[in-house]
Amino acid sequence: MNGYINALEAEGFKALIDSSRNILIISHTNPDGDAVGSVVAMRNYLQSKGVFSTIVLPNDYPDYLEFLDDREKILIYKKDPQKIINLADSSDLIIALDFNQLQRVDELEAHILDSGAKRVLIDHHPSPDCDNFNLIISNTDVSSTCELLYWLILTLEEEVSKIDTSVATPLYVGMMTDTNNFSNSVNSATFKMASDILSTGVDKESLQHKVFGGFSQKRMRLMGHILLNKMVIIEKFGAGYITISKEEQKLYDFSEGDAEGFVNLPLNIKEVNISALFTERDGQIRVSLRSVDDFSVNKFSRLHFNGGGHERAAGGKLFINFDEVGSFFERALEQSFQKCKGADGPAEER
Ligand code: 5GP
Ligand code: MN
Repeated sequence: MNGYINALEAEGFKALIDSSRNILIISHTNPDGDAVGSVVAMRNYLQSKGVFSTIVLPNDYPDYLEFLDDREKILIYKKDPQKIINLADSSDLIIALDFNQLQRVDELEAHILDSGAKRVLIDHHPSPDCDNFNLIISNTDVSSTCELLYWLILTLEEEVSKIDTSVATPLYVGMMTDTNNFSNSVNSATFKMASDILSTGVDKESLQHKVFGGFSQKRMRLMGHILLNKMVIIEKFGAGYITISKEEQKLYDFSEGDAEGFVNLPLNIKEVNISALFTERDGQIRVSLRSVDDFSVNKFSRLHFNGGGHERAAGGKLFINFDEVGSFFERALEQSFQKCKGADGPAEER
């Protein structure tokens, strides 16, 4: 069952940990449950081995994940860049989790590259950044980075009972959020991981409530508003999209994480197989993309939205007028579907 990790990877990882004294743990910009879950699990795992480490994220994480941040607080680069630059300089190992390319950490990238520290990447996205890491543990078959990290820790510890709940809990949360509560990218190994973790005493009802039942009233009302007024369905492409403007964010007292899961909403409609969420930000538009058939939103995002991700879940950014996102999305779909016409196989971005 533990076929995701080979002995060389586990030994290589252990050797790097054993020879390091100051470890920096990082994840991607706009951190989600898998990002926060994997960095916290790694920090707590290293702590259980008597190894010191610090977590740094490029920008803040959503409120609903705060319960995971219960030890030394996670440091946020945007809030205190100089402190983090010094930390990067003095660290001897950097562990990067849940992203494939170093540019996913934005401004932090330059300081990671400047540091003399060795670098490890543990991730489940396609195309890992082979040039910038000393060790890469990457697999796109797992549900989440948290699942891959679980298999790595289990390989090192050999028995589930040796994994502390302070490690098992964030791993479970990251897997649960990346799979949208066991609905995407789960396979038998994912359920085995979940079953193993429950055997360590993790309280799944409590986590279920914290992660999926702890939203604010304003977030529920915003969801009602976008479903009623903002969801657009483009029937000819089997696609749907939602836009959330700055004005609406102000009206509904929007905070980071409030739009979590919104991108999946159009996919509940029978005819919709491709979905997008566009959120207006300062100087850019955040793009979230999902699909439920063989349409690769990873390629679609790389081609049209300055981003990437997985085949069925991707993201990116746009630098256009917010009023134009709908027509931009429709044109991008048009191009993808046109490429299909007359072709024997799938088009480039499918
Ligand atoms: P989400 O829609 O949840 O923000 O992101 C979905 C997936 O796309 C995640 O796996 C995430 O890592 C990836 N992703 C999101 N934004 C970007 C981006 O700007 N660039 C790249 N390369 N991937 C992204
Ligand atoms: Mn992930």
